[in-house]
Amino acid sequence: MHNPGNADDAGTRRSARDDVRTRFADGAQYIAGRPAKGTSGRTHAVVDPSTGDEVYTYELAGAEDVDRAVAAARAAFPEWSGATPGERSEALHRFAAVLADQAEDLARFESLQCGKPLKLTREFDVPGTIDNTAFFAGAARHLQGQSAGEYSGDHTSYVRREAIGVVGSIAPWNYPLQMAAWKILPAIAAGNTIVLKPAELTPLTSLLFARAATEAGIPDGVINVVTGTGKEAGERLVGHPDVAMTSFTGSTAVGRRVAEIATATVKRLHLELGGKAPFVVFDDADLEAAVHGAVAGALINTGQDCTAATRAYVQRPLYEEFVSRTAALMESVRLGDPFAPGTDLGPLISHVQRDRVAAFVDRARSYARVVTGGEAPGGDLAKGAYYRPTLIAGAAQDSEVVQSEIFGPVLVVLPFDSDDDGIRLANDTPYGLAASAWSRDVYRANRATREIRAGCVWVNDHIPIISEMPHGGYRASGFGKDMSAYSFEEYTQIKHVMFDNTAVARKDWHRTIFGDR
Ligand code: NAD
Repeated sequence: MHNPGNADDAGTRRSARDDVRTRFADGAQYIAGRPAKGTSGRTHAVVDPSTGDEVYTYELAGAEDVDRAVAAARAAFPEWSGATPGERSEALHRFAAVLADQAEDLARFESLQCGKPLKLTREFDVPGTIDNTAFFAGAARHLQGQSAGEYSGDHTSYVRREAIGVVGSIAPWNYPLQMAAWKILPAIAAGNTIVLKPAELTPLTSLLFARAATEAGIPDGVINVVTGTGKEAGERLVGHPDVAMTSFTGSTAVGRRVAEIATATVKRLHLELGGKAPFVVFDDADLEAAVHGAVAGALINTGQDCTAATRAYVQRPLYEEFVSRTAALMESVRLGDPFAPGTDLGPLISHVQRDRVAAFVDRARSYARVVTGGEAPGGDLAKGAYYRPTLIAGAAQDSEVVQSEIFGPVLVVLPFDSDDDGIRLANDTPYGLAASAWSRDVYRANRATREIRAGCVWVNDHIPIISEMPHGGYRASGFGKDMSAYSFEEYTQIKHVMFDNTAVARKDWHRTIFGDR
């Protein structure tokens, strides 16, 4: 279905674009609490994917900009890491309040640069980010070492949990604001300072986020943003000698390259990579719930979600009905102008990404059946990077559409017979980020949660995330956790401190090195 929008919606989009040009006239870098222009000598255009029109052109960061940002973060580290947890907590509470004041701008700019419907940015991306900020404001006061005591009898030992230093983070384009928040918040709550490199396509809300931190009184240099290419700014940041930790979210292929550079420079590493989430429907499931869950789980953010439902495995008795009802529900989803009320689904991030998704589907036609979708819409949406919600059936388990991350509004559905098969197929890709199991039988569902190898398993739902719970992958989906108190494991290091309690000069253990008892 189409939702063409009207003149008012076009006006809202135009005013968002004009606001972006004014707000970011000083450039797309944010270093030491000030906006700046990149000095790479090259520019990049942020494009509205719903129209293909240019929104904002900026100067990309080069290696020197990264160096300046790292120097600013390094200079800010002693004071910020030396602040009390209570002081950092207070600053983060103020930050959450400033973000709440700017919620509408964050939503408009995110919709403009990504093509996300306003209802998604207003009801998911932005409130989620404000809630993350409030969560880390509280969590900052709960950083703890685990043990203290006289373990040897002659010493008192305790554990200090300390900030690591300057964190270099790299984020993807699919949830620019949330990814900036997930990277920045646990790092700074724990006392680190940070340089974030957002994706070149989508710098706007990361910049707004960093500026809001300054307005909230977070000291200059604690949060810096450099917007440049992966090859130039990204690799410089990962390899920088003054960066103590790399935190990367993006594709598994780029994650491997990042890991090589980080390993060569001996850095703490946190990788949140690709996914290919299975959606396992057992034959006692509520079919209505499973069909709705599959369509929402597959189409969220136009399928550009690392945890999106991508492979539905449906037990044979429900299979045919699941396919026909899922196709029908997909056909009712309203593609349209992201700024128009009533739009369910926006375009993909770019025409390049749309063509990549279309190529996956076109190759699949030779070995599988496209049940619905499989084309770009025409008419008034033809200019944008739109693609119809697509359901593919009849593909073999080892085929490309089942094994590879497509990152678009495409769901593949396959039947299975025994519970063993369903779980085996769910585990049969290199990825392990998220999964869901659909059943009314608590034993079956519980078995699936134990045996599916993924960082998150939902039961009778697919997608919800929450600040208090960790997000992160198994296997080729990476390692380390975002959100929740578990993320502090990534962004802190622990130090064992040991005091001698005997005050004896010639200690008993010295005999193992010199002299006799
Ligand atoms: P990408 O890997 O192409 O790019 C991610 C970031 O890495 C961008 O900022 C890019 O500029 C940078 N980059 C590219 N080459 C680099 C290099 N050589 N050195 C350093 N940095 C480099 O990913 P994308 O296309 O922006 O995003 C989509 C991918 O992100 C998907 O695979 C998706 O699954 C993944 N993702 C994962 C999670 C998660 O939590 N696991 C969340 C969101 C997205």
